[in-house]
Amino acid sequence: MPTSKPAQVGAAGTDVNYPPWVLAKAADGTPVRGAVIVFQGTEPGAVAVTVTTGADGNARLPRWRLPAQAGRATLEARHGTLVPVTFETDVRVRAYNLTIRLIGGDPGPDGLAAIAAAKEKIESIIFGDLPDIVLDIQPACSFGGPPLPTLTDAVDDLLILLRVRNIDGLGGAGGFGTPCLIRDPGAQPVVSLIELDSAEWVPSSPTEKYNIVLHEFTHAVGFVASLMTRSLPSGFSRQCMELPSRAAPNRLVQDTYFSCPNARAAFDRMGGIAYTGQKVPLENGGLIAGTQGSLNNHWRETTFGVELMSAYYNPGVAPFSLATAAFLEDMGYEVSYAGADSFTLTPPISSLLLGSFGAGLRSYEGDRDIAPAMQVLTSHPTITPAVSGPSRASGPRSSACTKCGGPP
Ligand SMILES: [Zn+2]
Repeated sequence: MPTSKPAQVGAAGTDVNYPPWVLAKAADGTPVRGAVIVFQGTEPGAVAVTVTTGADGNARLPRWRLPAQAGRATLEARHGTLVPVTFETDVRVRAYNLTIRLIGGDPGPDGLAAIAAAKEKIESIIFGDLPDIVLDIQPACSFGGPPLPTLTDAVDDLLILLRVRNIDGLGGAGGFGTPCLIRDPGAQPVVSLIELDSAEWVPSSPTEKYNIVLHEFTHAVGFVASLMTRSLPSGFSRQCMELPSRAAPNRLVQDTYFSCPNARAAFDRMGGIAYTGQKVPLENGGLIAGTQGSLNNHWRETTFGVELMSAYYNPGVAPFSLATAAFLEDMGYEVSYAGADSFTLTPPISSLLLGSFGAGLRSYEGDRDIAPAMQVLTSHPTITPAVSGPSRASGPRSSACTKCGGPP
């Protein structure tokens, strides 16, 4: 019996990313319809679920909820006297932490609630721990505001500096989110900066604040074009963004797309199987005045519509889709798809290179580059697991970053 992905990593107490399935075939290789498959976890008290194969011979378990404790979870698919098919998942407790530090302005009570909710959302998606890193550096990234403070933190796993200030008044940019310091290898951010434009932030509703700040959080954890394709001094390399022309990647309207496998598979699961263009389409509306900062740094608006990481702000619900969760998986994080919001692409699924946008629709970031002055931490002290944990804040932090490169 061919099967789905037999080994996975998952977060304790959540559903696995890829529910198990098996294909029943006769001796001559033809699919068998109506075969009764019993799926059962091997832990004590696990309840068996019976699924009958369909016309394609497949029996799909709708979901596999993992135990609440770390360890190895095992599930078997049985049919009569055939040797069972075994599925295994390495179950981990949630260990990815965001630390938010306000460095200017006042988000207000509903703003603080939105920031807390956005932090919780990201931590419901990303669960895998990354090495703690000790800093002694003043990040160079800025969006034209005051210089950032010198940081001497032990970071576990991402420190987000956040400030509210008047960036450009009403219109233009609503905010920015960018990685400032990234890991080598892996290229996941260690320190990121989020700026929120007070002119837009203050009058926004609680829902709008949540959408804006979660959008910027997602940039902050790595949803930026400059990390989709990246080579680092250690030799680490990622190639997930494809450009028909590399001559002017941020100044040409072209069919740019994100090519790495998890986001592509998730896009298909969301209804993108019917999409005939290159997958997964990135924003390319470069001829729309004042939206240069959106290029390649977002999903394409004409395809994704109201989804959180499309380039243009939509009032109301902005779902954090499976494709965005899977994007973060392609960026090297361990993620739980169960944290994503329900969202399917609306047919007919457009592959337009240019769309017609409704009046008043504006991009989140306007025309600014959203990833300025990113620095690579090429050599840095890390905290070993022996001193991490509750006391790590008082752990070693005096060692300087011995080599902190500028933008390559
Ligand atoms: Zn954006």
